[in-house]
Parts: sequence; C-alpha cells; structure tokens
Amino acid sequence: MNILIMGAPGTGKGTMSALIKDKYDVVHVSTGDMLRQAVKDKTEIGLKAQEYMNKGALVPDEVIHGIILERLAKDDIKKGFLFDGYPRTVEQAIDLDNILETLNLKIDYIINLDVDDEILKERITGRRTCSNCKAIYHIKTHAPKVEGVCDICGGQVIQRKDDTLEALSNRLDAYYASTKPVMEYYEKTGLIRNIDGSKDPKEVFLDIKAVLGE
Ligand code: ADP
Ligand code: ZN
Repeated sequence: MNILIMGAPGTGKGTMSALIKDKYDVVHVSTGDMLRQAVKDKTEIGLKAQEYMNKGALVPDEVIHGIILERLAKDDIKKGFLFDGYPRTVEQAIDLDNILETLNLKIDYIINLDVDDEILKERITGRRTCSNCKAIYHIKTHAPKVEGVCDICGGQVIQRKDDTLEALSNRLDAYYASTKPVMEYYEKTGLIRNIDGSKDPKEVFLDIKAVLGE
C-alpha cells in the first residue's frame, strides 16, 4: 500500500505516520526528518537546507528531488511507502508522478489531516521532540516523565528550531501558498480522504484505520 499523508504543520502527520508505519508495515519517508538528519550530519544537502528550515521556509524543489530519488532507489520501498511532508509544492507533485511512473508504482491513498490554525499554534509551540528516536511530546498534554529525557529511548528531548511562533507563521504561510494547491492538484485523482485531526490521537488513528482497512 502506498500512502501520502498531508496537512499543515502540527496536524499530526508525524504522530500518525509512526502508527501507520507500525500497523501497515510501510516505509516511512519524512522529508523533514531526512533534512534534519542531513543538517545534523552537515552534509552538502544539510548545509543547503539549514537556513530555509530554521526560518520555516520551504527547501528548494531540486534539493527535495535529489533526496526522494535517492530514497526511492532503495529496495525496501517495494513493501509500500508512506510519504510524510512530501510533496509540498505542485512542482514536487508533478515530479513525483513522473518518478512513480518510471518505477511502475502508484499512490493508493492520500490522507489529509485537517486542524484549525489556532489549535496548530498551541500544538507546535508546546511540541518537543526526541533528538534521537524522533518521539513527539507536548509540554502540556504529553510531557516526558523526566523533563528533557525521552521516555522511550532516554535521548534528549528538545524543541525544534522551527517550532517557534515566528517560524510557525512562515510555515503556515508556505502551507497555504504552496501546499494547499497540491491538494487541488490531487483532487481529480479521487484518492483524498479528509480526516479531522483535531481529535485525540487515538481517535484520529481509528478514523485512519477506517480508511486504510483493519
Ligand atoms: P512540519 O510539517 O511540521 O512543518 P516537517 O518536518 O515536515 O515539519 O518539515 C520541516 C521543514 O523541512 C519545513 O518547514 C521545510 O523547511 C523542510 N521541508 C520538509 N519537507 C519539505 C518538502 N517536501 N519541500 C520543501 N521543504 C521541505
Ligand atoms: Zn527517544
């Protein structure tokens, strides 16, 4: 099964992706995670992406094209993929269509998570992330048992550089200007399933399972 998960920053793409990946045994491809890793490793891509990411701006399409091509070249992709945070521009969506065609693959479902902007702000500015295993926490609703320490792996729990109000406002602007049109682009495929992402994560996942099957 090949899935795209879409939605503004903070709609829960990362949280739901972890659950989907475990249940449906697909390869989770998060361009955001890949880029953050590249920044950490100070690779050529990381050095290019860093400034854009810290500001909350989109990384140029040609950089994304490179990392996607590289990821899709790995054999495990055949068991099914879950793209999280990609494609984020119409250019990326057209590019992905071309790449999938050459690989003889197709998208089966597009899950679109829907949440009001006000809730997004609350979620993002309180969000903390494990720098090691990427587990997601929230200072109010889901704090780690020991402050700053991941419950799962003991790694350091930090605030992402772009999880500030200022960067978030840029990320929301980028979402409305560049990523909303991607949903319009996919409209004609009939693959989009809109899911209310404002509910409790457990309930959101129930709704997703109702779409993808038990
Ligand atoms: P969120 O969806 O919460 O904003 P991500 O981890 O998906 O978080 O993305 C973080 C940042 O990484 C984005 O703000 C952007 O700078 C960059 N990024 C990730 N994926 C893409 C993409 N497909 N195209 C352009 N930039 C991207
Ligand atoms: Zn962890």
